[in-house]
Amino acid sequence: MKYSKPRTEKEATDILLAEKGMAKILAGGTDILVQMKAGHIEPDLIVDIKNIPGIKDVISRDGGYEIGAAVSGYDFNINPELKSFAPGIAEAFDLIGSTQIQGRCTMVGNLCNASPAADTVPALLASNCTAKIVGPKGIRECGIEKIPIGPGKTSLDKGEFVKSIFIPSRPDFSSDAYMRLTPRSEMDIAIVSAAAFVTLDSHGVCTNATISLGAVAPTVVRVKEAALLLIGTKLNDSALSRMANECKKACKPINDKRGTIEFRSHVAGVLAKRTALLAYERAGEKIE
Ligand SMILES: Cc1cc2nc3c(=O)[nH]c(=O)nc-3n(C[C@H](O)[C@H](O)[C@H](O)COP(=O)(O)OP(=O)(O)OC[C@H]3O[C@@H](n4cnc5c(N)ncnc54)[C@H](O)[C@@H]3O)c2cc1C
Repeated sequence: MKYSKPRTEKEATDILLAEKGMAKILAGGTDILVQMKAGHIEPDLIVDIKNIPGIKDVISRDGGYEIGAAVSGYDFNINPELKSFAPGIAEAFDLIGSTQIQGRCTMVGNLCNASPAADTVPALLASNCTAKIVGPKGIRECGIEKIPIGPGKTSLDKGEFVKSIFIPSRPDFSSDAYMRLTPRSEMDIAIVSAAAFVTLDSHGVCTNATISLGAVAPTVVRVKEAALLLIGTKLNDSALSRMANECKKACKPINDKRGTIEFRSHVAGVLAKRTALLAYERAGEKIE
């Protein structure tokens, strides 16, 4: 197995492109090293991207934040600006693993590992985040939902890697939230998860909403029909119940020892309601 630590983006894409066998990017290594140790994958080439200039940077631009692909959970969550700007993304990131894992894990690794239960992905999706991808043909940007295409699979082409994730600007009176259900309170992956993003007018009426669900389908899903039911309301019980019902209908989960289809679908509705209410409360705090 070859190991490479390129110093530029171009060097990284050239090395990735030239490899005939399996090439893997190494960010924090908290997924890939476990998979290698367990014998699930045997890469011919590992490309460690952490020496590339700017890859650990957080840049404030266009009213949002660009998060470098090697920014760890710890780096993100000790940044008070990021935590207050995107509390839902921060809480999702903070749920990954333990203190030790937090020091290494990245959002991009979480995204590109392509697990339907990845904690940050529903939160990034609810906030309409985009990914900047570097490859042999230059730089392109796409919605983060386009990257995972099934368990363990991404849409990235040969030679491509994700350089950063952009969390876009938010209208006034907007906020987000993320919650998951796990069998244990720590060090476990989600049986079901939900994220919500809401925008309110100055009277507390919802003018825009996004709901996404994790671990209920091969990839994280955005439930547009559910979110629409919140618009024009103050998230009263009836709007929330109808929204939860739409979420249940959108679920296509697996049936296993961690949860039946019926249970996962029910919990998806419950978590969607709770995250929507928490996002609403956070957005409402900004109204004078
Ligand atoms: C003990 C433990 C507990 C965990 N708990 C959780 C949890 O609670 N919730 C959760 O969601 N996950 C959990 N995980 C999984 C893991 O920590 C996360 O998915 C983490 O975010 C992965 O980030 P990383 O930087 O370590 O990824 P890596 O292991 O470095 O990479 C993961 C995958 O993404 C690819 N990749 C990485 N960076 C890029 C890039 N820039 N461009 C293209 N591809 C890239 C790699 O090639 C690899 O396939 C846990 C893991 C462990 C070991």
